[in-house]
Amino acid sequence: MKNKAKRLLDEIEYEAKCTATFTGRKTFSQAVMDAIREVAREKFVPVASRLYAYENRPLTIGHGQTISQPYIVALMTDLLDLTSDSIVLEVGTGSGYQAAILSKIARKVYSIETIGPLFESASKRLLKLGYTNIETHQCNGYEGWEEKAPFDAIIVTAAATHIPQALVDQLKPGGRMVIPVGLPYMSQELMLLTKNNEGQTRVKSVLSVAFVPLVDDKEPNKNKDNLEQR
Ligand code: SAH
Repeated sequence: MKNKAKRLLDEIEYEAKCTATFTGRKTFSQAVMDAIREVAREKFVPVASRLYAYENRPLTIGHGQTISQPYIVALMTDLLDLTSDSIVLEVGTGSGYQAAILSKIARKVYSIETIGPLFESASKRLLKLGYTNIETHQCNGYEGWEEKAPFDAIIVTAAATHIPQALVDQLKPGGRMVIPVGLPYMSQELMLLTKNNEGQTRVKSVLSVAFVPLVDDKEPNKNKDNLEQR
């Protein structure tokens, strides 16, 4: 297993070099590489896929969703420039793997998920594995998590059709957001949005990527409102 994890880290390093012209990052920070080394990916994938947990590719996690390729997890985490003081919002908890990686570097991770069974299994898994600085919540990620905002960094792990204004509003001045933007199952671009201290934003495209879609489903919130009115 150690050999497999080492090989995965080597592959991530190699891919970082190959894509440096696009991403602007020849290597990823020591903190990011250490987090990839420390978090056991096999604990986040279905039993049937454990054999492939240390391969540099996405794997299915049920409900039509996937855990991202480790290189992409490393790249997106690196682009956030986290410190041990950072408060991060992740949209799309999925298996909880990306949240676990973020939690090794940042002070606090808030992660939101729209699919009930994934939200429940990831929340239980993260608790069982002892990740105490991650808080999960079931809601529509297009709206962010207003009560916990503002965030130093936001990472969206499903492809949005546009950059949701709620997420931009919930980012602190000086903050960074990575988000894949594009049409579902078509070409998408990983975008890096930065907000300066005056609150002005800049967006640049980093790399072509392929993510499952961020579902623009207002139902969970509608249901919540209805319940609260009753
Ligand atoms: N980060 C995850 C993988 C994400 S796959 C991991 O490390 O395993 C994308 C996830 O986004 C899926 O779990 C999907 O259910 C979730 N998702 C899709 N649309 C969403 C929305 N509108 N709000 C919150 N989560 C959403």
